[in-house]
Amino acid sequence: MIVAFVSGSFQTGRSTIAANLANYLRKTISVTLLDSDIEQLESSILLPPIWSKESEITVLSPIHDLDACQHCLSCITKCQSSVFKDYKDKIILLTELCSHCGDCVDFCKGHAVKLQKLTIGTIHKASYNNLTVLEVRLNDSAVKANSLFYHTKSYLDPLDVTLVDAAPYISDYACCSTMGADYFVVVTGDNELHFKQLKRTLNFFNNFKKPYGVLVNLSESENNQTAEYCKNNNIPLLGVLPFDKKLESGEIPRHQLVESPRWHELFASLWEKIQEELSQ
Ligand code: SF4
Ligand code: SF4
Repeated sequence: MIVAFVSGSFQTGRSTIAANLANYLRKTISVTLLDSDIEQLESSILLPPIWSKESEITVLSPIHDLDACQHCLSCITKCQSSVFKDYKDKIILLTELCSHCGDCVDFCKGHAVKLQKLTIGTIHKASYNNLTVLEVRLNDSAVKANSLFYHTKSYLDPLDVTLVDAAPYISDYACCSTMGADYFVVVTGDNELHFKQLKRTLNFFNNFKKPYGVLVNLSESENNQTAEYCKNNNIPLLGVLPFDKKLESGEIPRHQLVESPRWHELFASLWEKIQEELSQ
């Protein structure tokens, strides 16, 4: 089962919540925490793990031999990702659009297209006590986040509960970074800007037809405008987590939040609520 933690903006505490829930769950079930927020990887900082494995993710990318090209234009009609363009009577390739199906080698009768291996990123595996931590790292030289996430899914154990710390819903690849989760926890803060961004994110989820619930974080009060909004719009509210001065000042390390009795109870109730929602 995959549960993705998403947010419509930065500074909502999404990574802290996902890491601490994983830390809470590892004591009773087999759990993986996957960090796919490639622009701001935080899980391994939050839960200093022991690294054990690194796997390169490689795809096949086309290269074009202009001298061999017969300018038959068949690639322009047949490539479903519109990689080939006819520019000033010459074929050029926009390889960043390629979905790596490999079909161009067959349909290019002039044998002007070859495929070369391209490493788009790496999956790093680590453990923190009984918890498996996976981190997705994109190779800077490749604009290939969606392909990287597509390959990442095969590294997940289907018998585990996987919590995904996904990219915020302002990134082009946010949707793919959730690994096609079974359930979405939309984490939001409690100020005006967060509320505005949350409404935008929920509009997207309402068309998405996947189950989700809202978790309000860093809140000064149980009765906040987001909780009220969820109630009035029949949106499942998974909980309201308080703004914690000790956490803010660093008195409680971020990854050990769940060790305090008050937070332990809050994470237990959050997991119960998620399971309740999933069983409906
Ligand atoms: S299919 Fe091959 S030969 Fe034909 S235009 Fe495209 S690259 Fe050139
Ligand atoms: S590998 Fe597939 S998507 Fe990529 S250029 Fe060739 S036909 Fe198009």
